[in-house]
Amino acid sequence: MLWSADLPSSNTSAFYVATSTCYPWEIYCDNLGLIKKVSYFFKYRLAKVKCFLHSEYDVVNQIFRLLQEYTLTPEINHVKGHQDNKIPYTSLPLPAQLNVDADRLDTNELRDQPNLIHHVLLFPDSKVQLLLSGTSVTRNLSGAIRKHQGYRNLGPYMLERYGWSDDVTASVHWDGFAAAYKSSFQQRKFVFKFCMKLLPTGKTLHRRESRFDDRCPVCSSPQESNDHLFQCQDISRQRWQSTTTSALRKRLEHDETNPVLVDIMMAGLNSYLLSQPFDYSEFAEFDHSFSPRRPYYGLIRHQEAIGWDHFLRGKLSHQWTLLQQDFVWRTNPTKKFDSAAWLRLIIRPIFTACQDLWTTRNDERHGKDAKTKKSLHAAQVERDLRALYAVQDEVLTADRDLFRDTVDEHLTGEIYTIRQWILSHKSTIQQSRRESRRRSTTKIKLLPTYFHPLKQGKRKRNQFRSAPTPIPIYQSTRIGDHFLPAPLAPTSIPRSNKQLAHLVRNFQQLPLIFGGDHPT
Ligand SMILES: [Zn+2]
Repeated sequence: MLWSADLPSSNTSAFYVATSTCYPWEIYCDNLGLIKKVSYFFKYRLAKVKCFLHSEYDVVNQIFRLLQEYTLTPEINHVKGHQDNKIPYTSLPLPAQLNVDADRLDTNELRDQPNLIHHVLLFPDSKVQLLLSGTSVTRNLSGAIRKHQGYRNLGPYMLERYGWSDDVTASVHWDGFAAAYKSSFQQRKFVFKFCMKLLPTGKTLHRRESRFDDRCPVCSSPQESNDHLFQCQDISRQRWQSTTTSALRKRLEHDETNPVLVDIMMAGLNSYLLSQPFDYSEFAEFDHSFSPRRPYYGLIRHQEAIGWDHFLRGKLSHQWTLLQQDFVWRTNPTKKFDSAAWLRLIIRPIFTACQDLWTTRNDERHGKDAKTKKSLHAAQVERDLRALYAVQDEVLTADRDLFRDTVDEHLTGEIYTIRQWILSHKSTIQQSRRESRRRSTTKIKLLPTYFHPLKQGKRKRNQFRSAPTPIPIYQSTRIGDHFLPAPLAPTSIPRSNKQLAHLVRNFQQLPLIFGGDHPT
C-alpha cells in the first residue's frame, strides 16, 4: 500500500476500497509529517482533538479511523520521494519505485482535471467542512476566512477608487499581488502608495496646498501626476523605461516564459509608458492556431480592462498564469509550475525599479548635492513666504503688523531668517485667519431675522377696530393706577435654523417688496 503526498482529498476513497479487500502489513508514505501525525493519534488519546484545526485534518483523521479497523495495525514506513531524480528507476529499491509510480499516476490525475475540484467530498468521519463561496477550505482556516472577508471589501473599494466592476476586480490575480507585496515588506509604505496611485507627486501636493510646485522637476510639464512620473519623456526617464523593460524581458526569458507572453507584456508596458493605445494586430497571428478560442486576445482584453498602468503596479490578470501554465505543460511536462513564484518574478523587481525611480525623482525635486539642494530649498522657502503673504488680507486686523510692507521687501533678507520667520509665524497666521473667518460669520443674521416675511395668500389687510372705551367704575387715588408702566420693546421670536430656511424660501417666492434686485 502506498500513499502519495500530492493525493487529492477526494481520491482517498480509493484507498478506503483497497484496504477493505486486502490486508496490508506494511505501508509506505513519502510524507513524514503525515506519518508522525498518525502515530501521535495512536500514542495520545487527545492528539486528534488538539490538531482539529490543522491542515488536511479530515484526511489524517480518516486514515487513522481506517487503520483502527484492522485487528493488527499495519506498520507505516517513510520512503523518500522523487528518488528517480538522481538514481535510475531500475536501480531503486521496491518502495522507492512504487513511490515514483504513485507520483506519476497522481500527476496524470491532477493534469486531467486541473483546478476543477472546488468542493471536496465530505469524509464519512468528518462531521463538518468549511465552505467559502462554494470552495472547500482544508487548511489555514483562520487565514482563509480573513482573506475571504478582505476580498469582499476589496470590490466596493476598487469600484469607488477606479470604477472597476466586480468582474474586473475578480479577474486580478490578488494572491500573486499579495505575495509580491508581502515580499516587499521593508518598502511597504512606498509600495502601498505606489500601487494605489497615492504617491505625493507635485499634482497631489499642489492640490492640497498651493505653495507646492506642481510641475515635473525634469521636463517642467504642468502637472506631475502619478502617471506622468512613469510616462515622462525626459531623457533620464526614457533611460529608466528601457532599462526596466529590458531587465524584465531578460528575467522572463531566463525563466522559460512563453515568448508570446513576454512580447505582449513588453508591448503593453510600452503602450502605457508612451501613453499610446495597445496594438493587438501584432499578436493576431499567434491566435490562429488556437482558433476560435483566441487565448492571447482574451488575455489582452482582460489586462486592458484592468489597465496597463495597473500592470506596472502589480495587478495582473489570472489569464497570464493560466497561459504560462499551459505553456509549461506543453514544453516541459516534468517542471512544476508555481504561479505565485512566477508572478513574484515579474512584480517584485518592478516594484524595486519604480522605487529607484522615485528616489531619483526626489533627488531631482529636492536636489542631490549641497548646491542644488540649497537653491531648491530657497525656491521652496520663497513659495512658502508668498503663500503666507497671499492670505495677509484675511487675518485679523490686530495681526497684520506681523507682515512687512511687501513680500519682495521681506525676500531681500537671508533665507535662514525667512525660514525662521515662517516657522515661528505660520501657525499664528493660520490661527488668526481661522479666527477672522469665524468672527466674520458669528454676528451675521439672516434677513428674515429683521423682516418677517408674510406667508403667501395671507396678505389680507388687517381690520383695525378701536376697542370700546372702558367705563370707569371707581376713581382710584393711587398714582400708580394713573400712570401705566412703559410698554416693553417687542422681542423677536427665537426661531430655529430650519424655520428660518423655510421662511427664506417662502420669502424668495414673494414679489419683491423693496424693489430693485433680489434681496439675497
Ligand atoms: Zn516630466
